[in-house]
Amino acid sequence: MHEYSIAYDIFATAKKAALENNALTVQKIHVEIGELAMASKDQIEFLFTVIAADDPLFTNSIIVCTEGKLQSVCRCGYEGNERFICPVCGALPEIKKGREILVQNVEIEVEDK
Ligand SMILES: [Zn+2]
Repeated sequence: MHEYSIAYDIFATAKKAALENNALTVQKIHVEIGELAMASKDQIEFLFTVIAADDPLFTNSIIVCTEGKLQSVCRCGYEGNERFICPVCGALPEIKKGREILVQNVEIEVEDK
């Protein structure tokens, strides 16, 4: 399943960040899902919870997914959110952003020193 591997990647990325920073727990994970990523936000949130359930680092963690807007550019110089037709010259714009899934930020709790 597509969403399962995405959720697993998010989990692995957050865990790596947590371990590198000596985190006690992971509190919040911010994920941006590109509008062309063809992935269901609800599915990813649910699967992430399932994957993270057995890991004590993620006992109280929350995953927050936001939609990443498409960005396109055209050879005429147009930049914007059009996917199929450049509003300036009518050509097919090139998609620069919107297909990817990005872990933007991982909030962790660390031990007081
Ligand atoms: Zn154009």
